[in-house]
Amino acid sequence: MQPPMGNERPPPPGRPVSAFVPGAAVPPPPFAAGGQLAPQPRQGVPPPQSGAAAPPFGAAPPAAMGGYRGPTPSQGPFAAVPPPQRPFTSGPPPQGPFTSAPPSQGPFASAPSSQGPFASAPPSQGPFASAPPSQGPFAAGPTPPGPFGAAPAPFRPPPSSSSLGQPQSPTGGALPPPPNYARPPPLQSQGFYPGARPTNPQFPMSRPAFQQPVQTMPPPPMGPTAMFGNQAAYPSTGPPVGGTLQSLVEDFQSLALSSAPGSLDPGVDIKGLPRPLDGDEEPIKLLESYPLNCHPRYFRLTTHAIPASQSLVSRWHLPLGAVVHPLAESPDGEEVPVINFGSAGVIRCRRCRTYVNPYATFADAGRKWRCNLCTLLNDVPGEYFCALDASGRRFDTDQRPELSKGTVEFVAPTEYMVRPPMPPSYFFLIDVSVSAVRSGLLEVVAKTIKSCLDELPGFPRTQIGFLTFDSTLHFHNFKSSLSQPQMMVVADLDDVFLPLPDDLLVNLVDSRHVVESFLDSLPNMFHDNVNVESALGPALKAAFMVMSQIGGKLLVFQSTLPSLGIGRLRLRGDDVRAYGTDKEHILRVPEDPFYKQMAAEFTKNQIAVDIFSFSEKYSDIASLGSLAKYTGGQVYHYPSFQAATHGDKLKHELSRDLTRETAWESVMRIRCGKGVRFTTYHGHFMLRSTDLLALPAVDSDKAFAMQLSLEETLMTTQTVYFQVALLYTSSSGERRIRVHTAAAPVVTDLGEMYRQADTGAIVSLLGRIAVENSLSDKLDSVRQQLQLKLVRSLKEYRNLYVVQHRIGGRLIFPESLRFLPLYILAICKSLALRGGYADVSLDERCAAGFSMMILPVKGLLNFIYPSLYRVDEVITMEPNKIDGSLKRLPLTMQCLDTGGLYLLDDGFSFLVWLGRMLPPELVNNILGVSLANFPDLSKIQLRECDNEFSRNFMKILGTLREKNPSYHQLCRVVRQGEQPREGFLLLSNLVEDQMAGTSSYVDWILQIHRQTQS
Ligand SMILES: [Zn+2]
Repeated sequence: MQPPMGNERPPPPGRPVSAFVPGAAVPPPPFAAGGQLAPQPRQGVPPPQSGAAAPPFGAAPPAAMGGYRGPTPSQGPFAAVPPPQRPFTSGPPPQGPFTSAPPSQGPFASAPSSQGPFASAPPSQGPFASAPPSQGPFAAGPTPPGPFGAAPAPFRPPPSSSSLGQPQSPTGGALPPPPNYARPPPLQSQGFYPGARPTNPQFPMSRPAFQQPVQTMPPPPMGPTAMFGNQAAYPSTGPPVGGTLQSLVEDFQSLALSSAPGSLDPGVDIKGLPRPLDGDEEPIKLLESYPLNCHPRYFRLTTHAIPASQSLVSRWHLPLGAVVHPLAESPDGEEVPVINFGSAGVIRCRRCRTYVNPYATFADAGRKWRCNLCTLLNDVPGEYFCALDASGRRFDTDQRPELSKGTVEFVAPTEYMVRPPMPPSYFFLIDVSVSAVRSGLLEVVAKTIKSCLDELPGFPRTQIGFLTFDSTLHFHNFKSSLSQPQMMVVADLDDVFLPLPDDLLVNLVDSRHVVESFLDSLPNMFHDNVNVESALGPALKAAFMVMSQIGGKLLVFQSTLPSLGIGRLRLRGDDVRAYGTDKEHILRVPEDPFYKQMAAEFTKNQIAVDIFSFSEKYSDIASLGSLAKYTGGQVYHYPSFQAATHGDKLKHELSRDLTRETAWESVMRIRCGKGVRFTTYHGHFMLRSTDLLALPAVDSDKAFAMQLSLEETLMTTQTVYFQVALLYTSSSGERRIRVHTAAAPVVTDLGEMYRQADTGAIVSLLGRIAVENSLSDKLDSVRQQLQLKLVRSLKEYRNLYVVQHRIGGRLIFPESLRFLPLYILAICKSLALRGGYADVSLDERCAAGFSMMILPVKGLLNFIYPSLYRVDEVITMEPNKIDGSLKRLPLTMQCLDTGGLYLLDDGFSFLVWLGRMLPPELVNNILGVSLANFPDLSKIQLRECDNEFSRNFMKILGTLREKNPSYHQLCRVVRQGEQPREGFLLLSNLVEDQMAGTSSYVDWILQIHRQTQS
């Protein structure tokens, strides 16, 4: 049997390893000689950026690091940590990556602390206790339990449709309009919505015309105040839960529908339908009642009223859960405070491991503190002691952010480390086959990376490396003593090995000149490459070998369908016969388990994978994306990439990816009080144990959703607490714990659950569940399930009120959910879920699905219900008035005036729509060319021209891009009536209109209404 490979294994004789490739299949040209390759003067090594953030090997200057080789036994605070084992050495028998093997070996296994910081209950487990031993995935020979065989499915299946029972009156995918209803005539031929907002844009509907009797509302919860007598720590009035007279008036709203039976007039005031033209409504009002909660941008419940009983849960019908955005940018002027407990250690509950927080209470003259999640009375460490005032409040409460703010960050001491904090590390895996060369991709990628070198996080510890591949693998030696990089080609794809033990992933400061030399020559290096093959699988294995000891980010640039070696994929996206059958979903899941297995290995070794896909043809995003899905990564899709068209988008998005603040080697857990439990998690991560999310890297562009279940009736509990804890390594090399704490009242009134509902959180959770369901079910069924949830919830709500209010034929809904019907329609019409085979390309559908899984609430809502603006008047204004003059319009053709210029923004792309009657001068000014001479608008590149209109127009684009820096909107231009482009670029985004067998908003409301009455 072949011994397992180690990184240091010298290349066996006869292997096709060579510098500058003699005899390789496709001889890439050597690094071109030239002035640019002259070694640049070695950069000085500045001191570390902050004292507190000293690198773990602080004693040694960075220049002496020579790469990151792991600690030696004599090194400082980590002396007790055994040096990490090489991943490919022989060792104990392989075990499943997520079995609870004893943490005796492996880079993440040697937890020194007896109490794992993230262990939820018994403190015997280390933080990474469930990490497997370090047997590599590529050990030769039979591996009976298989490193992946035993891996539990990281995603729990969302509730199946069976739990919902059969749809009572489901509409099919075609969502046909009701037979007794004809489309209403357009109310006006032009300029139906001339851009002016209704007087009450928040809620453009008339109030219900009936009186509402005063109901008995549940009392406001007292929280632990009553139990522990610490009044001062809480808002003196107690959090109201809507039990005021004023809220009764706002209990619900209604729409008059179909008042005359048999009439063709639907009786719906189209203008009066609620529309989310202000985008996401962050429930910041909650902070008035719960000032100690974290800001809702970090944590939002689908309803800020936790049901006391299972019967309430089942009558709520909508998902009960939360959306977590742990690294959201902090609200203006509110930096997240950083706390170092020093010798006291991080203050946590000894039973449930909750971190001390503003809802903790103090007793016994300050010597004890009571955990608000599990009520255990804990000792206060001597160093943390403070006396209490007469009301039982610590005198230092206002000086201690952890006792007064819902969001804080703790500096984690060494027991939160299983190895020294890793340096930020970026490894690039670049497909250099012919399509990458011809599209201009290599040039954009090389230039962008070079322009970001100064801004990569973690200076001066940052590590960087590159591997290029086509039908062979090209390793690049960046040893700092070289004047230019050396390339080594490995052609053996079946038994991948590293031709060098070191210098493939190097310290950026030390090897800066070699890296720059490489990036300068990369486009030319493969200029004449005509190789069409792509050995992505073997390249991923090689990248894993290079990165496995440090971890970091792996950025994969893939231009074609992987065609060689392990992980090769086949064309399968064009199988139209599968649609509408039970096999339809199979096209949307990875075909080859290789990708998921690799993802498990990557996560285990703290490697996050971002996929940049550029293929002209089908490239199986479903398979490639699973690398990102299970490693906390992200999928970027640039179909038919051409540098001239897509270069700017790639440049901005790659720059953002490389330079945004990133949290490394992180894990996240969300604790909640007794009686409730998070059951399923939705997003990009690997689930380790039942509730620990492994996130090799996470940043401000990633959000997560989770579902909550009730484990027991909450008879005596009045408040449920939640605490999100993200343990991570900052780019500066500090181990930190970001903690968000929130409280929510327990209610016994279903109406209160509806009143406190958060549509943005509900849509985020529902959208993610729907995308996941589409991986195991037909699109049509997924849409029906969404519709059913909506109908059941509104029906339940109607039953609450219909009797006492004689509502008759009206559709009623709580004000909190007034946009929900439209948003659910929009999810059904989203790229990920709309139509069938012909409506969206499979890759595009899968890429949209991956995006929907990570988008924060605001971005998701704008993606499914894009912003539409009329801009022809705005661009004639004074530049400083432009921003305030942009008004969102309803997404319907009726808003489009043939004499207007419109802009649609879904966060990923802009669409400029030119009305047929738009004055030609204006068009020429904006486009910079005469439309008459330029019939092919698909080739138009909008650039600022030397006129006021163009400058103002580009300013609008710039303003919108600034507001949403996560992605860069690619700008396309389409003219009214230009088919088929207008159809798929614009009309398919007008989600209020009837299109290709889908319902219009009005039809949809009528359907929902009819079903709620049945
Ligand atoms: Zn506790």
